[in-house]
Amino acid sequence: MAAAQFLSPKTLVRLQTVYEDLPARSKLPDVASQANSSLKEFLEASGSVVELEEGEILFEQDAPGDGMYWIEAGLLVVLQGSLDEPSLLTFRHPGQVVGEIALLENIRRTASVAAIVATRLRYLNKEKFQGLLALIPGFGVEIMRLLSSRLREVKPADYSAGLYDHLTGALSRQAFDIRLQEEMERARLYQYNLSLVFLDIDHFKNVNDTYGHARGDEVLISFVERVKANLRTIDLLFRFGGDEFVLILQGVDQFRGPALVRHLLDDISRTQFPGDPPLNLTFSAGVAYFPVDGDTAELLLEAADKRVYHAKRGGRGRVTGKLGEQ
Ligand code: GH3
Ligand code: MG
Repeated sequence: MAAAQFLSPKTLVRLQTVYEDLPARSKLPDVASQANSSLKEFLEASGSVVELEEGEILFEQDAPGDGMYWIEAGLLVVLQGSLDEPSLLTFRHPGQVVGEIALLENIRRTASVAAIVATRLRYLNKEKFQGLLALIPGFGVEIMRLLSSRLREVKPADYSAGLYDHLTGALSRQAFDIRLQEEMERARLYQYNLSLVFLDIDHFKNVNDTYGHARGDEVLISFVERVKANLRTIDLLFRFGGDEFVLILQGVDQFRGPALVRHLLDDISRTQFPGDPPLNLTFSAGVAYFPVDGDTAELLLEAADKRVYHAKRGGRGRVTGKLGEQ
């Protein structure tokens, strides 16, 4: 048997990060494809077991293959294009199947599939699949329904377009330019406010200078984790560059924005960032508001930028919600 092929550790970590960033509802198994309990019973009785390790590739796009796999436990990722920079990204959970398109078309695999945690599958070859069509009334229709929902799901992955920062897993600067426009349009349409928070870690250069760049990287990763732990699932966190981050907070206006960011600052300043020795950090932040400070990305960024500068000048470890206010 050929040696198992694995995703590169970097790709695996990125994919796991993308999965963790998904809103909870996108992580729920697809109920429609779970409905077929006859399939489950059949596969448990006759599908051969396949075990995958974390990062192991089940099959690659364009490889010949006409089998289908039912996921018993674990989590799979479906990728199109290169495994390092895939252009399609979706996840498959227990109760769902992968490989059904190649099975029906009897051609090559239309995507690559890999496990992002240890995963257990049941394999169904073409003969067994045909047996199933004959055995279970409505199974063919069920598969067609499954395929049509797969087709609706196909969309370019955020991931491939470089929309995630590779170090921290926060959204990228590139993502920010797109998302801010989208968020402003949505806020305009549904008439709610946005707060745009610009934050910059204080004296971050000292961390690099004192403990080295690698420790600096670790601190950035833990910082992002800690900030995320304070956010709601609908809030967006971007790494703007270096030690600068931006938050887009939906439905948060000039009255609530500063207090929320001060709360975040309190939490960050109380956090001991792991390592030897553990470190304490603060950040300086400026908050701008849509639509009161403007309705373009430039106006909002300019307002937020001025306020961060004000917070830095005012002694760091503080949040400026409005110029002239302390
Ligand atoms: P200030 O309080 O004025 O913000 O001071 P600062 O030391 O944080 O200075 P500044 O924000 O200007 O500099 C950010 C530093 O972050 C400079 C750079 O060495 C460091 N940096 C930028 N990107 C990375 C990265 O990816 N990893 C690490 N380890 N350091 C980075
Ligand atoms: Mg800084």
